Amino acid sequence: MSTRNDQSVPRSQELPGHGSTFGAMLQEFNVAARLLNLDSGIWKILTHPKRQITVSCPIQMDNGEIEVFTGYRVQYNITLGPAKGGIRYHPGVTLDEVTALAAWMTWKCAVAHIPFGGGKGGVICDPTKMSRREIEALTRRYIAEIVDAIGPEKDVPAPDVNTDAQIMAWVMDTYSMHVGHTTTSVVTGKPIEMGGSLGRREATGRGVMIATREAAKHVGIELKGARIAVQGFGNVGSVSAQLIARQGARIVAVTDWKGGVYNEKGIDIETLLAHTEQHRTVDGFAGGDPLPVDKLFGLDVDVLIPAALENQITMENAPSIKAKIIIEGANGPTTPDAHRHLHERGVFIVPDILANSSGVTTSYFEWVQDRYGYFWTEEEVNQRLERKMHEAFTDVLQTAIKFNVDMRTAAYIVAINRVAVVTRMRGMYA
Ligand code: NAD
Repeated sequence: MSTRNDQSVPRSQELPGHGSTFGAMLQEFNVAARLLNLDSGIWKILTHPKRQITVSCPIQMDNGEIEVFTGYRVQYNITLGPAKGGIRYHPGVTLDEVTALAAWMTWKCAVAHIPFGGGKGGVICDPTKMSRREIEALTRRYIAEIVDAIGPEKDVPAPDVNTDAQIMAWVMDTYSMHVGHTTTSVVTGKPIEMGGSLGRREATGRGVMIATREAAKHVGIELKGARIAVQGFGNVGSVSAQLIARQGARIVAVTDWKGGVYNEKGIDIETLLAHTEQHRTVDGFAGGDPLPVDKLFGLDVDVLIPAALENQITMENAPSIKAKIIIEGANGPTTPDAHRHLHERGVFIVPDILANSSGVTTSYFEWVQDRYGYFWTEEEVNQRLERKMHEAFTDVLQTAIKFNVDMRTAAYIVAINRVAVVTRMRGMYA
């Protein structure tokens, strides 16, 4: 285990085929592991999922038919603490994708410096075609199938694509019924009334704001008056825009799935929020000019915040980007070749596992408060979050400077090193 690595990928770790999301994760991992000169033994451990669970969930549908849904829970690494990660309901869920997402949660929790490992769950289903009763039945059966593997000390799920606070309430109730007592800390992202944390809804956007502020400071841009463009106006995009505008910056452009808006003087975010509340889109907002969605990335702005979907910044649009800073609010918004191109052009990119890590940090705060049975004010949550995010940003920036690498590689170096150090200390149980 202590054999030094010869700078190449350990032989037992063959890369999965092209198109594998887990393969994409491994490529990012390998770059940082080489720079760290990671022991080959630890390299092998950290590139294998600790546990992958596959379950079949039979559900009686509203029409009386029985359907069987396949669900996964992957606990990628639990060296630093219980696995942590969301549950996704989507027809395209695969074990490969869930494993990659669980690995990314491992690195995100380690960068955020919280005592969690990484996990993720998914069920292959199309919730848009299911009734609320069917979704509740599926949730309860899925949790019953994995009930022995989850728990406050083992694995703590959370919402992800197509799962919400109500579904987390059913997760908590199902688990509690099985163990015979109310266990709020088995899941995060719950409604406030049953152990959710104040500040959780705004947490990811708040972290994006802090990352933007720190990045601007580093690059030497005055945030007050800076021009910002935001892709996506959902939970992350809208809160980021709101909080960054409160710092005195000008949000000049916002797009969503349907359309966009541009205002050179700065969009009034509060009015835009009221508009989207009513129309479910920023499209048609009167406080600016219409902006075609594909024009956002080429705008003359200081900061670009992709906060919508993965794979948005590609080699198709990266050459047109004028922003000096990109803050990845979304997960995986920049393709690896676009990232390389932008970094070489001197664009400062704050990677997803750092930029949006405040979401999981506040989930950690929820878990802590549930276990204490004592709840913090929103101000306390925000103060703690500010401290954690500032520390994480500083750790990654110092590492980027020390290794002379981009911030994404630096974030991986910080994360892998934290997990590797504890793996070494704990030693081999065999
Ligand atoms: P959301 O569903 O609330 O919002 C998504 C937004 O993106 C919507 O405004 C939607 O209209 C917009 N959008 C969809 N397709 C688009 C397109 N083609 N062009 C422009 N906009 C488009 O989701 P969210 O919770 O805000 O999450 C956004 C991203 O942030 C995701 O990648 C998610 O995984 C990531 N993330 C979210 C959290 C969190 O706490 N919510 C935490 C970490 C990471």
